[in-house]
Amino acid sequence: MEKYLRSNEEVSEEQICPDTFLQNHRGVKRRIAAVKKVLRRIPEQDWTELKKQTNLFHWFIPPTIQLGLVGRFPITHTEEFVAKSPLVPRAQILFLSPWLERPEIENDVVIYVAAHEIAHIILKHTTIGDRIEKEHVEANDLTKSWGFEKEMQAHKRYYRKLGILKETL
Ligand SMILES: [Zn+2]
Repeated sequence: MEKYLRSNEEVSEEQICPDTFLQNHRGVKRRIAAVKKVLRRIPEQDWTELKKQTNLFHWFIPPTIQLGLVGRFPITHTEEFVAKSPLVPRAQILFLSPWLERPEIENDVVIYVAAHEIAHIILKHTTIGDRIEKEHVEANDLTKSWGFEKEMQAHKRYYRKLGILKETL
């Protein structure tokens, strides 16, 4: 059984929760629900760490009805990032694909993707350069430690069904 450590209300009140700016859009429901479930389940220490990073990344959860977009994201780079790439300011984006709203995709897959990406944020991954493979493994390990084993299996099944051996997330 899933273990929830905080209520929906408690999570929704925090600035980190994406629906504070997405609530008026259609076609984002499953992804928002999945993110909220993850935010309710992660251990206190990681929840605190994630909240500290509120302004250091942006959610990008485009509605399914949105077919194109030119977007400008405020720059979120930290000193750590600047040290690695001094000439290239970056915005860090957490993207959840509109494809995840499709009914044939199991809910556990949506939850797993949300948890995995949130893990990258908590672990302060750069997700660039040659550390990326290692970072995916670390994000998987952290997600597993949170108790998302069932969701991880659903996610693996999804890729296997597609005939894709290498998971991309
Ligand atoms: Zn990853």
